Amino acid sequence: MKYGIAVDLGATNVRVIAGCRDGRIIARIMERTNLMGGPEAVSRQIIRLIKRICRENTLKLEDADGIGVGAFGPQDPIRGGISRPANAPYEFIPIREPLTEEFKVPVEVMNDCLVAAIGERFYGAGRGIDNFVYITISTGIGAGVYVDGHVLLGKDGNAHEIGHIVVDYEGRLLCGCGKRGHWEAYCSGKNIPNYARLIIEEENLKDKFRHSYLYKASYGKMERVTAKAIYDGAKIGDFLCEHLVNRVGEINAMGVASAINVYDPSVVILGGAVVLNNVEQVLTPIRMQFKDYIVNREAEVKVTPLKGDVVLYGALAMAFGLHKKG
Ligand SMILES: [Zn+2]
Repeated sequence: MKYGIAVDLGATNVRVIAGCRDGRIIARIMERTNLMGGPEAVSRQIIRLIKRICRENTLKLEDADGIGVGAFGPQDPIRGGISRPANAPYEFIPIREPLTEEFKVPVEVMNDCLVAAIGERFYGAGRGIDNFVYITISTGIGAGVYVDGHVLLGKDGNAHEIGHIVVDYEGRLLCGCGKRGHWEAYCSGKNIPNYARLIIEEENLKDKFRHSYLYKASYGKMERVTAKAIYDGAKIGDFLCEHLVNRVGEINAMGVASAINVYDPSVVILGGAVVLNNVEQVLTPIRMQFKDYIVNREAEVKVTPLKGDVVLYGALAMAFGLHKKG
C-alpha cells in the first residue's frame, strides 16, 4: 500500500500520522516534544515515532512516498530545520537531514502555518479556491496564504507573520517578539489575559470583576485570569466576560480585515485552539465588524473543517508532493 508520513512538530506536542493520498488516516501517534534533550533529540524522537507507527501497522518504510513536516518557526529552509527557536536554547534544530539519512525518502520541512494552508488547499476549506488565507489563533497568531493558486513562502519560508501586524498605535501591550502593539499581544490564547487586565484597569471595571464569573474562576486574582475562563464566562452570559470577548473580537476583526485588504482572498479560514474551542464567541464579533475595515470585496469567514489536524493534513499533502503542483 502506498502511503505518506506526516509530522506536526509543535513546541508542546509532536504528532505523526501515516495516511493515504485521498486524506484517509491509517494511524496516528503523539508525544510531548523533547525540546530539552539537545538539538538532535527532536529528530531522534520523530524517527522513533515514525518507526513505531510503521511497525505497529505493518507498513514497510520503503513503500512510503515521502515525509512532510510542519514545524514551529522560525525556519531555515536552506539547512532544513528550525533556526534559533524562541522556546529552546539552540542555534539550530536539524530536521530534514537526519530524516532523509534515516529513511532515504523525500523529506519536506516547512513552517506550520504555511503547512496548515496547504492542508486547507488539498483536504479542507481551500479546495478549489485559488485565493484564501488561513489564520490560526492559538498560543500565538499566524497565517498561511494562497494567492492565485500558489502558497506564498517569503525569502526564508516565514511569510505572513500576521500576528505581528500593528493593531494599537499606542502600543499599550508588549508582544512576545519584543515589539509593541501587535495583534498577537492582545488576542492570542497566551495574551488575552493581559488584554483583559488592561481593559479592566482602563475602563474602571474592577467592581464588575469582583462580581463576575471571572473572579471566582481566577480565585479573585487578576493575575490568574485565563483565556479559557473568559470564554467560559461569556458562554454562560457573564457580563464582564462577554464584554472582554467582544473587545478581543474587535481587534480580531481588524486583523482579519487587514488580511482581506492585503491578500484579496475569497475565503478566510480560521483555526487554532482559541477558535476551535470557542467558535461562536470568536466568529460572531469578527463577522459583525470586519466589514467596517475592508476596502476589498468581502471574503467569507469560516472555521477550518480539519480542526486540530490541519497541519497534519498539510504535511500529508507535502509527503505526496501535492503542494508543488499548485
Ligand atoms: Zn509581535
